[in-house]
Amino acid sequence: MPEFDLIARIRERVSSRADVRLGIGDDAAVLQVPADRRLVVAMDTLNAGVHFPEDTAPADIGWKALAVNLSDLAAMGAEPAWCTLSLSLPQPDPVWLDGFLDGFLDLATRHDVALVGGDTTRGPLSVCVTAHGFIEPRAALRRAAARVDDDVWVTGTLGDAAGALRQWQAGGACDATLRARLDRPTPRIAAGRALLGIAHASIDVSDGLLADLGHICAASGVRARIDIDALPASDALRSAFSGDDLRTLLAAGGDDYELCFTAPAVARMAVQEALQDVDVPVARVGTVVGGRVGRGGCRGGGTRADEDAAGKGDAENAGSLVVTTAGGTPWTPPRRGYQHFSG
Ligand code: ADP
Ligand code: MG
Repeated sequence: MPEFDLIARIRERVSSRADVRLGIGDDAAVLQVPADRRLVVAMDTLNAGVHFPEDTAPADIGWKALAVNLSDLAAMGAEPAWCTLSLSLPQPDPVWLDGFLDGFLDLATRHDVALVGGDTTRGPLSVCVTAHGFIEPRAALRRAAARVDDDVWVTGTLGDAAGALRQWQAGGACDATLRARLDRPTPRIAAGRALLGIAHASIDVSDGLLADLGHICAASGVRARIDIDALPASDALRSAFSGDDLRTLLAAGGDDYELCFTAPAVARMAVQEALQDVDVPVARVGTVVGGRVGRGGCRGGGTRADEDAAGKGDAENAGSLVVTTAGGTPWTPPRRGYQHFSG
């Protein structure tokens, strides 16, 4: 099947929006941004064998390719509108494409996102998506906005996707609930919107909570204390993993696509009510603190830190996290962040 037949197949199935003045079929799309909004743009690529197991169903690849991009918009508090899709396919397989579009367009429809263009080429399986959304001027939730004494919050549950990956790598059966979280992450769009005007800093958790909260700390020039035992875990994860295995998945597993955000302590009720309104669970997992912990990243305990000068973080101390158990014992993760499973 030639490339233009694949494009025709895509074009046939996409739904449009009033603000798409010209969609798929010309040299470029023409789009209308509302006069009182700013455009927010994100791009993420998924490569076979790196970002998803080779045996992933085409529909799940389609869903996930869009979901990880919508998750970036969610972290900014943006409302999604449009996307573009660059597909590199080993062969022009219409059956694969139809499956892919089933998942991709299912998620697009749920968020009223129009696919307005893209590119289709021959090569190793790779999917690159850009997502475009709107935000009220000066309202975006940035990484650099955390303040000392903010609470640290996390939506949903952590570690599920990484738990499924662990099971898949071990060659055993994956728990279906966990595998669904790996294949079909939920972009927290409504939660991001609900947090506008309440949250300070925000990020979506793709590389693992400690790594991504580390990005907030680095960008904001602060540190954070995390209670490892306060991290939200699903029943499915708890019944499959325990002890330090469980803690590691929660803190450093990755592929969660939940939001990690900070908000002032006076906004505790507001956070809970805002997320209750959009039906998204939320857990308070730590506190933003000032000071320095010296060279290096994540370390357990916090005894040496607070006594030091409380100045703005520099490149050296930025990103440092203090992780303890509920009992206050320092906890050091075996590793930080998400390692792509192909190594
Ligand atoms: P050009 O060579 O001018 O870039 P293409 O033949 O690549 O044009 O694309 C023709 C039209 O089809 C364009 O509107 C393009 O955006 C759209 N398109 C191509 N591939 C995809 C895709 N994978 N998803 C959505 N639209 C696509
Ligand atoms: Mg052209």
